[in-house]
Amino acid sequence: MNKAIFNINTLIRPNVLKMKSYSSARDEFKDFSSEMIFLDANENPFDTDVNRYPDPQQQKLKRLLSKQKSIPTNQILLGNGSDEVLDLIFRAFCEPAKDNVITLPPTYGMYSVLANLNNIENREVLLDESFQPKTDEILKNVDKHTKLLFICSPNNPTGNLIASEKILNLLNTFNGIVVIDEAYIDFSKAESWISKLNEFPNLIVTQTLSKAYGMAGIRLGICYASAEIIAVLNKIKPPYNINELTQNRAVEQLRNSKEVEAEIALLVEERAQILKALVKVRFIEKIYQTHSNFILIKVDDAENRYTQLLEKGIVVRNRNTQPLCENTLRITIGTPSENKKLITILKEL
Ligand SMILES: *Cc1c(COP(=O)(O)O)cnc(C)c1O
Repeated sequence: MNKAIFNINTLIRPNVLKMKSYSSARDEFKDFSSEMIFLDANENPFDTDVNRYPDPQQQKLKRLLSKQKSIPTNQILLGNGSDEVLDLIFRAFCEPAKDNVITLPPTYGMYSVLANLNNIENREVLLDESFQPKTDEILKNVDKHTKLLFICSPNNPTGNLIASEKILNLLNTFNGIVVIDEAYIDFSKAESWISKLNEFPNLIVTQTLSKAYGMAGIRLGICYASAEIIAVLNKIKPPYNINELTQNRAVEQLRNSKEVEAEIALLVEERAQILKALVKVRFIEKIYQTHSNFILIKVDDAENRYTQLLEKGIVVRNRNTQPLCENTLRITIGTPSENKKLITILKEL
């Protein structure tokens, strides 16, 4: 997308373009530092630590992310998991029953769930045999109503990175918004696409605390984009979408980056060990390349092996019904002792 001709207003839904954001009590007066008496939001005044509404703009958390990622706070939006961020993107840009999006299966299931939920046509263009995008076919499917293209890199459930020259090509040629889902980026050596935000006005990058950061339970997703795109998403987000407990835990965890990095390093090391061990398991026919905290394997009979593992107390994900994933299982990297058990059991089957 050529920066000179890119006009975000032609992509935004007309009703959203016209909207003014809801102004909550906490938006209108937010000087928490002074000794003010807050009688503006109908809260219970007695202190429980959470009797006040949370900061609707999550300033503390955003400032921390901003510092760590070198992205200005006005280019960051937070969601109740990246799933909420993805939903906001649909609702900002896609007119129900009129616009369409492109997704690249096999990939994360939420894109199609959200397309259905929002009554948006989902044009599925399968990845090729190496799980890379077929650029020509994608572009053939684009029409004037194509608003979004979802690229998951590293991809779930395949585990591989999407080649950067493919992404660059799509960023340059697709006239809508390219959403790069980087839920697993911390397990990869690849550079995040957030470093390219200033070059591509049509780029949105999503990340999450649910995987590498060990915080799936608090629901915190992160969206990085141009200040223009973030302003649009901000306008339509629920005012208090990130609760106080989540904001506080997230700040704690982000300050804890040494520990998180150590866990990531351990999981990556465990991944290498498991990959080595899997080679020796007879019924595994293919082990796919991974840049994530999981490994996709092709087995002789996924249904059977899935059940056998269940009987031994191990739950993996059967991806047999996904396109290009016949007889595959997706296995998350666990703790060293969990992984050891997995390997022992796999060898026994
Ligand atoms: C797990 C996952 C997410 C995370 O979603 P949250 O709502 O942030 O927990 C996003 N995208 C992909 C591809 C995932 O696998």
